[in-house]
This record gives sequence, C-alpha cells and structure tokens, in this order.
Amino acid sequence: MRDRLSDLGLKPVEIEGTETVPGDGASHLAGRVHDISVTVPGRSSTGQVLLVAHTDSVLTGPGASDDGLGVSSLLEIARILTQGPRPRNDVVLLFTDSEETGQLGVRAYVHSLGKADETPRVVLNLEARGTAGRAVMFETGDHSSALVKALGGHPPVATSLSAEVYRRLPNDTDFTQLRKAGMTGLNFAVIGDSADYHAPGDDLAHVHPGSLQDLGDTVLAAAHRLSATDLRDVTRSSDATWFNVGPLLVRYP
Ligand SMILES: [Zn+2]
Repeated sequence: MRDRLSDLGLKPVEIEGTETVPGDGASHLAGRVHDISVTVPGRSSTGQVLLVAHTDSVLTGPGASDDGLGVSSLLEIARILTQGPRPRNDVVLLFTDSEETGQLGVRAYVHSLGKADETPRVVLNLEARGTAGRAVMFETGDHSSALVKALGGHPPVATSLSAEVYRRLPNDTDFTQLRKAGMTGLNFAVIGDSADYHAPGDDLAHVHPGSLQDLGDTVLAAAHRLSATDLRDVTRSSDATWFNVGPLLVRYP
C-alpha cells in the first residue's frame, strides 16, 4: 500500500502510537498501532478533506469488504486526485489500524494532531456492513446541510431518518472517535448481504464489484465537491433533512 502511494508521487507518513482505552472494571484495552496518512496538497487550502478507511479485519472474517472496499476505494481516489487538476483544499487519506478493536488506530491519529490543531476538517469515512448493494450514507456529523449538499454529484442511498436511527445505536466506527474529537463529516457503508459481515463470507468471492465501484464513485464525487469549497464555512451551516426520490437526493434545512 505504501509503495502504491509512493508510486503516485505522494509521501506516505506512518503514525505510530500506543493507545489505551479504559474498559469495564479493572480491564483495559491497549495496543501498539500503525496508521498510514498521505496528503494530496491543495493549491490554496482552506482546510482538509479527510478520507478514512481501516486496514484491519476481524478474526472471524477476511475483510474483503470490511474494509477492503474502503481501502481500495481510497487507493483509486488517490490515483485520480494525483492525475487530475490539483484540488483547492488538502485531501488527506488516512488508513487506520485496529478499527475493529476499540478504534485504537484512529485514536493515535487524533493524538498525533495535538490539542492546538484547529484545521477545518471534514471527514468521509468508508465502512462495510455487508458485501453487496449500493453505497449508503448512514451517519453525519453536525452542520449536515453543507455536507449533504456535497453528495449531489453521485447521490448515495441516504435519508436523515437512518442517520437519526444510527445516532441512537451503540455501534462505533472510526468516525465515532473523529466526531468526539470535534470533527464533522459523513459515514458511508455498503450494507447488502449483511450475513457476510464479520463472517467467512466477507471474501473476494462474495464482494460485488459493483458495490466497490459505487462506493468509490460516491466518495470521489463528495471529495471533489468538498475539496473545492471553503471549509471554513461548513461550521456556519445548519443541520438538514434529506431523502432519496428516484436518482435525486432531496434536502432542506
Ligand atoms: Zn469496518
């Protein structure tokens, strides 16, 4: 992966850290983690578009979709971004370690930023809860009207109702930790054939190539729009309501 990024003329950086998460009672979760981060520099940056996928998988599944779909989408997006005109904003691709175990990798990334960091940043997190179907945008952070607007180029399956439902569920992803660190953004996943999630069927034989294409197209379109906007304005936008009508994504404040 690092070689692939270097071949594109990018400079991947390793973020290394030891993270500890307090558990219930006397137990603690701890691990040494290694993330890879790479920046496609903007020409006149107002902040960062942060694209995130995790490189680990669970013991019960090979992880071809969770999160091979996300990792391979990011590699292809890196190739496209380095071959087209330079984006206005910095686009950072973050490949996290140990998402499945307490999101330790993304915690190391947050710590690497330091407390003084005030870079305006919008996160696009790529996940999988299955091996088939269209890309679903199932969670947003605050100021969602500016974010959902960026989905117009290639709308995913999305309703603000599912975002509200997810907000009440205990499931964590890397985006959970990034939100706790004060960032906003959008969380995407492929969720069809969910019986393969965290199971032996999450392998290359079961992952639908069309799902990979759709997730990549969706996140690339959003990254293009967000990398062209003034990210300092995002925190001034309100929350939105949105839903699909045929191929369109309707939204209002
Ligand atoms: Zn995952």
